[in-house]
Amino acid sequence: MVLERSKNLCLSGVPASPGIAIGLARVTDRARVAVSEHAVKPEAVPAEITRLLEAISEAKEELLLIKNHLEKESGSEHLYILDTHLMILEDPMLTSETVSCIKTQLINAEGSLRRTLLKFREFFNAIEDEYLRERGSDVDIVGERILRKMVGFQQEPLPQLDSKVIIIAHDLSPTDVLQIDKSKVIAFVTDLGGKTSHTAILARALGIPAVVGLESATAEIISDDSIIIDGATGTVVINPSDESFRNYLSRKQRYEYFCQEYVKFRDLPAETVDGHRIRLKGNLEFIEEVPALKEHGGEGVGLYRTEMLYMNRSTLPDEEEQFEAYLSMCRKVAPFPVSIRTLDVGGDKFVPELNLADELNPALGLRAIRLSLRNIETFKPQVRAILRASAFGEIRMFFPMISGVSEIREVKRIISEVKYELRSQGITYDDSIKIGIMIEIPSAVLVADQLAKEVDFFSVGTNDLIQYTLAIDRTNEHLSHLYQPLNPAIIRSLQIVADAAHQAGIEACICGEMAGEPQYLPILLGLGFDELSMTPPSIPRVKEILRRCSLTEAKKLTAKILEAETAEAVESILKSELTAHFSEGFD
Ligand code: PEP
Ligand code: MG
Repeated sequence: MVLERSKNLCLSGVPASPGIAIGLARVTDRARVAVSEHAVKPEAVPAEITRLLEAISEAKEELLLIKNHLEKESGSEHLYILDTHLMILEDPMLTSETVSCIKTQLINAEGSLRRTLLKFREFFNAIEDEYLRERGSDVDIVGERILRKMVGFQQEPLPQLDSKVIIIAHDLSPTDVLQIDKSKVIAFVTDLGGKTSHTAILARALGIPAVVGLESATAEIISDDSIIIDGATGTVVINPSDESFRNYLSRKQRYEYFCQEYVKFRDLPAETVDGHRIRLKGNLEFIEEVPALKEHGGEGVGLYRTEMLYMNRSTLPDEEEQFEAYLSMCRKVAPFPVSIRTLDVGGDKFVPELNLADELNPALGLRAIRLSLRNIETFKPQVRAILRASAFGEIRMFFPMISGVSEIREVKRIISEVKYELRSQGITYDDSIKIGIMIEIPSAVLVADQLAKEVDFFSVGTNDLIQYTLAIDRTNEHLSHLYQPLNPAIIRSLQIVADAAHQAGIEACICGEMAGEPQYLPILLGLGFDELSMTPPSIPRVKEILRRCSLTEAKKLTAKILEAETAEAVESILKSELTAHFSEGFD
């Protein structure tokens, strides 16, 4: 009997990596191991512990084999993820919790390990920060590998692909993604996973469209179903209707056309029709994003968020590890510069190793530079690592959430101390390294003229500046209509910052989301910003608009906009200007 397949069924998941793919599904069974939990007699406890330890060591051997193989086949670019899994395998907590469960609860090794994994899962699930929460999936993946060894379960091998397919799986580990034949996989879809899982990060780094966290993908889709996936919206259409197919095909063609068109701008200067040059750079969190930065024509890294170095782990990174990370980033981005921002955690960005207390008002709490100045023992190694890396390429160092002059003076005092220590140890660094601050608190705007005398550049964090100026929680969806980048208070703040910087002869940059929105470009240009830093895929689009703008016109527009009294009025002036000058390009 042939079952009628559902037609044009739309599923909605987490958009993990942009791009539209249309093709046939290949469902791969990456099912979890079924384990039974049962009681054991006290005399069987040593044997159960031995089984556990042997399985851990076999899992480690297997992972090392895969790593060596991949290293030979495809180089070491993404293999740091496997190192993370090896670290989890060696985590004493995982072993000791499980051993203790075997001993005290008298439960077999598999059951005890499942219980430990569940405990870890609950711990991770309770974490508010999405990136850190997703690290729970790495622990799950490692746990599965150990369980497979214990029960002798051979996972179905990844399919040998002879044609291009869309992989559908309950879950795909980063190891799976690294091992799969990427010339044949046009997209993938998984039941599990979040936007910041390593699998999703890898998909973005490799440019493979992906939708994750669909929950029921493997239940709804069978191999050879026709599938459409839109990795930007998280939509998956199963056996699309003709209309749906035509619609997505034209979207796909348009998307690819624009990608190709914009890439043409990669090597053209970021300059207006009247010859005014600004710099367009990328905001990066991982070294894996450097190829995307270069592909999109970024002239360096305007914001390297160092938080991720601290978040994906159970211990804090030491100076050496940070030095290595900054050095690799700097070498990979060369000949362009990298602006490294020191740790911006606290508030909703959670690092358990820092033992932060719960706060009633985390957005206004002990976070960013305040935390660094409180924890000098973690701040100094970071400053040392950045300074040491500065001997090997163009690095700039800047600090998040500076609220006033005394704070930056305190930071500069610490930098001088660290420089002195390095000098007395004969360690080289760039003595003329540029020092900057994020402008993201209204008090910093109000004293921007004084702050400008203290540093070499300003970088406006519009995400937080809008939040703090308008008193709108940037994560509260009920207030999103009040989160207004075009509010006159924001435009005026930007003007104050740019003017103060230029009067003092320093650079004015922006690295908040506003910088990557093409429709705001004429205003930011008219206000005189020297550098805009954004997610790399936004660079060609902003550059394309910039190359159609004139500085003189942008200044006139900005003067008009600075007179407007409401966000709606600003929007309307901007809209009519954009419609008059840019008949296309803003859809
Ligand atoms: C900002 O606040 O605009 C910014 C770039 O920093 P983050 O988003 O990391 O807080
Ligand atoms: Mg910020």
